[in-house]
Amino acid sequence: MYSPTSYTPSIPLSPMDHHLTLCALRNPIWEASAFATDMEISLLSIPNSPVFAARTHLDRWRARLEAQTQQVFQYDVIEEITWTLFHMSKITMHAPLPLLRIHSAAPSGKHRDVDTEKVATKLGIWRGSPCPRMGVISCAEVCQLLSRNPFGFDSNARRDKLNPLATPALLMAAIAVCSYAAGVGQKQGGGCPACLPGLEHEQGGCVDIFAGKCPQSQERVKEWEATGRGWPVWGSSGIVLCRCGLDRLGEWFQQEAVLGRDETARRELVAFVEGLKCGFE
Ligand SMILES: [Zn+2]
Repeated sequence: MYSPTSYTPSIPLSPMDHHLTLCALRNPIWEASAFATDMEISLLSIPNSPVFAARTHLDRWRARLEAQTQQVFQYDVIEEITWTLFHMSKITMHAPLPLLRIHSAAPSGKHRDVDTEKVATKLGIWRGSPCPRMGVISCAEVCQLLSRNPFGFDSNARRDKLNPLATPALLMAAIAVCSYAAGVGQKQGGGCPACLPGLEHEQGGCVDIFAGKCPQSQERVKEWEATGRGWPVWGSSGIVLCRCGLDRLGEWFQQEAVLGRDETARRELVAFVEGLKCGFE
C-alpha cells in the first residue's frame, strides 16, 4: 500500500476526477475490509494497520472534496454516486458485513461449519473498539444523503436508476445499524434508558446520530464516536440504538422511502433481523 500524501492539485478537480480518485482507493479499502473480517480484528484502531491507513486516505479525500465544494457547489448525480460510494467504503471497513451476517445466520443452521465461539469472540472485540460507532455514523450519513431527494424523484425506483448504489448502500446501512443495536445489550450491561430507566444520567444522555449541520450536535456525535458515552438515537425517529429498539429500527429501514419497493432487499433485512433476535451469544 502506498503512503498517504498531502499533495494538493493546483487545478480544481471535477466531480468525475473526485469519483475516479475514490475508485482508485478501492484496493486499500478491500484490504482493510478483509483484515477486519478475517484476521486481526483487535488491531482495527492501531496506526499502520490496513484499516487505519485506508481511513486516513478516505478522510483526506473527504477533506479535499469538502474544501473544494465550499467554493463551487454544484450538485449533480455523479456527486451523489461518489458520496454514496464513500460512505459504503467506510461501512465496509468499520462494520465487517461477512462477520455480521454469520452472526445473524448462525442460529438458523445456515453456517453449521462456523466456529460460533470464535465469531462471538471476534464480535466482542469489534464491539469493544470505536469501529462499530464509526460505521453507524457513516450509515446515518448515507441515509441522510439518500433521503434528500434533490432531483425530486417520484419513486425510489427512479432514484435507483440514476444512482444504482442507493439500495445496496441502504441495505448495508440497515445491516450494520441493526447489528450495532443488537449488541448494545451485551456491551453496556443489559440495555438503554428506554428498557432500563435510570441509566441515562450515568451514561451521558442521548446523542442524535443525525447531527446535520448543528455544530453542537456534531460535537456530541464526535464525543460518542471517540468514547462511546451516551445513547445514540436514530434521528427524528427517536429510536434508541439498543436491542429493545431492533424491531422498530428494522421497520424504519423497510419504509417505502428507504427499502420499501425493493422486495429482495426488504426480505434480506427481515431475515437478518430475525436471525439477530435469536442471536447465539
Ligand atoms: Zn433498550
